[in-house]
Amino acid sequence: MTSVYRQFSLASARSLNMASNKFIVPPPRIVDREIVKPLLCGPGPCDYHPSVEKVLSKPVLSPICDEFFNVLDDIRAGLQYVFQTRSKLVLAMSGSGHSGMEAVISNLVGPGETLLIASRGIWDQRAFIIANRYGIKTEVVSVPLDVTFSPEQLEPKLKKLRPTALFITHGDSSTGTVQNLQGLGDLCHKYGTLLLVDTVVSLAGVPFFMDEWGIDGVYTSTQKVFSGPAGISPVAFSARAEAKIKSRKHDPPFYFDMKLLAPQWNCYGSTRTYHHTLSPPLFWALRCCLQEIAKETLPVSWARHAATTARFHKRLREYSFEFLIPKPEDRLATVTTVKLPKGYDYQEFVKYMRAKHNILIFAGLGPTVGKALRIGIMGVNSTTQVADSVAEAMADTLRALKKSSL
Ligand SMILES: *Cc1c(COP(=O)(O)O)cnc(C)c1O
Repeated sequence: MTSVYRQFSLASARSLNMASNKFIVPPPRIVDREIVKPLLCGPGPCDYHPSVEKVLSKPVLSPICDEFFNVLDDIRAGLQYVFQTRSKLVLAMSGSGHSGMEAVISNLVGPGETLLIASRGIWDQRAFIIANRYGIKTEVVSVPLDVTFSPEQLEPKLKKLRPTALFITHGDSSTGTVQNLQGLGDLCHKYGTLLLVDTVVSLAGVPFFMDEWGIDGVYTSTQKVFSGPAGISPVAFSARAEAKIKSRKHDPPFYFDMKLLAPQWNCYGSTRTYHHTLSPPLFWALRCCLQEIAKETLPVSWARHAATTARFHKRLREYSFEFLIPKPEDRLATVTTVKLPKGYDYQEFVKYMRAKHNILIFAGLGPTVGKALRIGIMGVNSTTQVADSVAEAMADTLRALKKSSL
């Protein structure tokens, strides 16, 4: 019992007739737990920036006061920078990366309209499930899990279906690929299609230019390259997307509706309204992540991620690891996928890395289950030192498990 409550006792509760025998559930014993923090080198979540840890306990602000609105303005300015957009409809959803996915799809594609899904990993499968729940017609165009799309693979489908939108993942953390998006916006717009992009594991780690590339709806998350806590997801919409939102006939879910969120975030000026309460530690953290990226600048962050990953890959090659993705230009700078030699068990490898080296990496997900290890070196962890430690720990694990399993 904390000291402020000490003046109240079970006896005083009894005298107020509040401790009757009506309680069918007694108070549980919630004990303190020791947690050994591993180095987070999965495809997410990533470790926090040291500065993010500090802002998590900043004051709680009323959702309708100037201090609060100023924080929202800072966040929107930071997001316009990281997305590289002059668009006004830029804000953050209260929820993890999936809330951004759901918001972008449900605001821009109505029931009965068509969403074309470019499928190469698990995230497009999620988009497929979400779209179906909203009564959206889904069409899928796929490539094998270890390659990316060329415009020639997408254009015939766009031409034939003229879908309301195309969904594609920029960095795919289930396969470790990065999709070239240049020219895709123009291609979509030629057929009256909006371009929707998942940048959850790529934004700020690899080059991305929303306006230049003609992207209409995009979302990201704080728990990956941003090196912040999960639970708040930036989204941005182009002028084309705004026009669609204005003219659409359907209503997306209340909590995700951009028509209601834009006034809360003052996207168009002088509308400071209340829609829902944002989580104070999360918006302080997002603001801090954006401050860090703005200080480092995007080109330096992109170069750091490229250099760290080049180093990591060089070390992996020295230890004879084999990459899942054959073409170097398809490999994502934030998440690396590696195949293990025959006879090795992926789950066992991951467990050993955690137990012996206290490094968290993941096995495959979705299409890569039983086919790859997924190692995320991003954000605050994108350093030579981390790249070397993880490569050395992986080499040790390979040697150790060979003795026992072969
Ligand atoms: C992690 C991830 C997501 C899901 O994000 P959550 O924060 O877990 O909801 C979506 N897309 C990609 C590419 C991811 O890497």
